[in-house]
Amino acid sequence: MSESSSHAASAQRSMAFQAAVNAPVRKIDKVKDASGKDLPISEYFGSLTFGLAQMREKLPKDAYNNLIKTLDQGKKLPKETADSIASAIKEWSVAKGVTHFCHWFQPMTGLTAEKHDAFISIQHTNHSELRVMETFSGSQLIQGEPDASSFPSGGMRSTFEARGYTAWDPSSPLFIIEEENGKTLCIPTVFFGYHGQALDNKTPLLRSIGVLSTEAVHFLKLVGDVDAKKVQTTLGAEQEYFLVDKNFAALRPDLLMTGRTLLGASSARGQQLEDHYFGSIPSRIKSFMQESEFELYRLGIPVKTRHNEVAPSQFELAPIFEDMNIASDHNLLTMEVLKRVALKHGMVCLLHEKPFAGVNGSGKHNNWSMANDKGENLLEPGHTPHQNLRFLACLAVVLRAVYKNASAMRAAIASPGNDHRLGANEAPPAIISVFLGSLLENILNTIEAGKVLKATEEQIIDLGVSQIPNISKDYTDRNRTSPFAFTGNKFEFRAVGSSQNVAVPMSFLNAAVAASFQECAEQLKDLLKKKKRDEAVMELIRQVVKETKSIRFSGNGYSEEWKVEAKKRGLPILNTTPDALEVLKDKKATQFLIDMKVLSKEEIESRYHIAVERYVKTLDIEHSSILELTSTYIIPALEKQMNLLGRSHDAMTLPALKKSHKSRMTEFEEVFSDVLARYESLKAKVEKSRKGHDENKRMWDIVEDLQPASFKLRESVDAAELLVADELWPLPKYREMLLAHNLA
Ligand code: ADP
Ligand code: MG
Repeated sequence: MSESSSHAASAQRSMAFQAAVNAPVRKIDKVKDASGKDLPISEYFGSLTFGLAQMREKLPKDAYNNLIKTLDQGKKLPKETADSIASAIKEWSVAKGVTHFCHWFQPMTGLTAEKHDAFISIQHTNHSELRVMETFSGSQLIQGEPDASSFPSGGMRSTFEARGYTAWDPSSPLFIIEEENGKTLCIPTVFFGYHGQALDNKTPLLRSIGVLSTEAVHFLKLVGDVDAKKVQTTLGAEQEYFLVDKNFAALRPDLLMTGRTLLGASSARGQQLEDHYFGSIPSRIKSFMQESEFELYRLGIPVKTRHNEVAPSQFELAPIFEDMNIASDHNLLTMEVLKRVALKHGMVCLLHEKPFAGVNGSGKHNNWSMANDKGENLLEPGHTPHQNLRFLACLAVVLRAVYKNASAMRAAIASPGNDHRLGANEAPPAIISVFLGSLLENILNTIEAGKVLKATEEQIIDLGVSQIPNISKDYTDRNRTSPFAFTGNKFEFRAVGSSQNVAVPMSFLNAAVAASFQECAEQLKDLLKKKKRDEAVMELIRQVVKETKSIRFSGNGYSEEWKVEAKKRGLPILNTTPDALEVLKDKKATQFLIDMKVLSKEEIESRYHIAVERYVKTLDIEHSSILELTSTYIIPALEKQMNLLGRSHDAMTLPALKKSHKSRMTEFEEVFSDVLARYESLKAKVEKSRKGHDENKRMWDIVEDLQPASFKLRESVDAAELLVADELWPLPKYREMLLAHNLA
């Protein structure tokens, strides 16, 4: 073994560290005014988008009115209108230097997909010369047919009808993606099969937003909002992420292949000192954030908040909430922009739920609420007795939605990445419960006790007006351990994973709430036969509060006692993805999705199959990767260390030294031998499991047998890392990857 090769690994690590620490802060070109000053955000916000506002301005009046009719009444867009919209879009895009367009959609892989076409077409002139022209027709805008046979359909398509179609969703703005050497117009679309089955995550989301509106309006009318026409669902998705220098990522095959570190001993200093959260942001990171925000503003995404998160190298970005359909597209775009801009700054943005063991993982808090056509937030305690009654009624509806569909909501956030996070003493537990805060708890308990059962509006004010408006100001009453918490004027679904398409959990939540609105409306109709309206509504609230008591929990969601208590209460405890996915096979647990026409039975089945397949594939990649890393990086390093120990032992003459060195060798050999044994064990299990053809059985083998074996292997490798000479260790260490930003 030559000296240089024995040091190659540490030389690379050391170069990567130097590069990370000395990385330049990237300057960005912002939009300037004539005198060279940076323009305010309001001047360029949305400049790369073409939505309703731009259409109103640029379309002929007729075309615009037809489009609005299509949106409001679900009418088909006439061909001439489509052509005229396409032509306006083309003119706008080409003027901005756009050469290609693509239908942008959200296949069930959880990512986004795009297929690009150039705007050009060829025209023959009189002299049979060819002339290239920019063209874009209404039909190209409205419908596409990507070669979709490679997107998962969960068995919904046989090959002879493997076609998938994308159709323009006019409710979401078109946008331009600018890259160094070209610009592409992206057309947000839904993606569906030959028989109209949803092949994407967006179609169910749109359906759920529609049905929630219908059912909520019906309920609100009974509650007294007789002129309610539409209810809008709103979403603000806080995005957490890690940033790692690209030079480190390049030396970590596990990050490259799986998005997380499969090995790595915790560094002595992690997040114990709690000094990272809200700490000052290093300039290199801030520069990345500024460029991301600049891009996001131009894409019309209202990002508002940026800060350091709890773990070292972890950060968060939060937008101002928007209409859910748009907010959901915007979150997907945000994830793409973060990843792209990070690379420009020499960093990799990790959106995985648990890139590093031993420190916090990343989530995506989905702040969710509903608003009526006057823009009043239905989950906001109001100023009038009626608003407060309506608030409590809607709150009861949500409580029942979660109470009845907790297991489905758990299934909606199931993923291999989230399995590392949920319940890992930092993120909400895998048990779904609702936190309301002590003020609301008191109010609901009083109502339940029947104390305000005969309440007139005045008595509700007694409960409400003096106190309820304070709720939204009470920021102290927080419970970080709750998966679904009320935060003053909205619910925060905190268990959603950082890499997830929010359309999935949001369509489940909307469907559950829509079903609950429907059920509560039926119940209220009966009560209205016997009581006056306000009393009937109070009685409904009382009944729901009583029925759903077991879903409310204010204590510590991380504690062992909660697991015991939740079990006693009969709440679903679904610790792993396989456990949670079983829910999708449960007819009773998924009936609300079918009833609300958010997903058909066939679509639910297909999603189950895709989720199982993705679980198996993801874990299979992880297991192959950890085996390969162990065999080609770790074991050779351990052999070198063994050699080193042996050679120095031979060189020793002093018996006392030889003796204590012997115990060091023994300690090392024991760990080395564990690594080898555990490597062999995982390898044998993986090989055996791969012979199985039943995906469902493989999934259970993986979670019950392979995962524990792979955790054990990691444990030994991480122990070995602490015994091997630093210069022999071939992978960038946690301290380097997580703490380098502190020196930059
Ligand atoms: P908090 O600190 O209480 O979580 P913030 O004001 O920081 O509250 O908001 C967190 C997120 O919740 C932001 O994205 C915000 O826009 C969003 N949000 C606020 N009100 C609503 C609402 N009515 N519906 C949906 N999201 C909301
Ligand atoms: Mg928050």
